[in-house]
Amino acid sequence: MAKEPILTFILSKPDKFHCSFCGHGPDEGAFTLDGHVRDLIAAFEAHVERYHPKGEDFSQAAARIVREATEDH
Ligand SMILES: [Zn+2]
Repeated sequence: MAKEPILTFILSKPDKFHCSFCGHGPDEGAFTLDGHVRDLIAAFEAHVERYHPKGEDFSQAAARIVREATEDH
């Protein structure tokens, strides 16, 4: 089974959650809890669908997304 991304947070920044595949770098992998936990989960699910449908890390996924965008013209 493929490795699954996990939503994480660190105690020094408890208001920010991060995608484990993206780490603490890119903004695309950072989430804030503004309202309901289910909204946070939905945002993370949408992120995983976009960036990690194949278990890629952020840089691999970003490269693929750019490649796909430039391919269909
Ligand atoms: Zn991610």
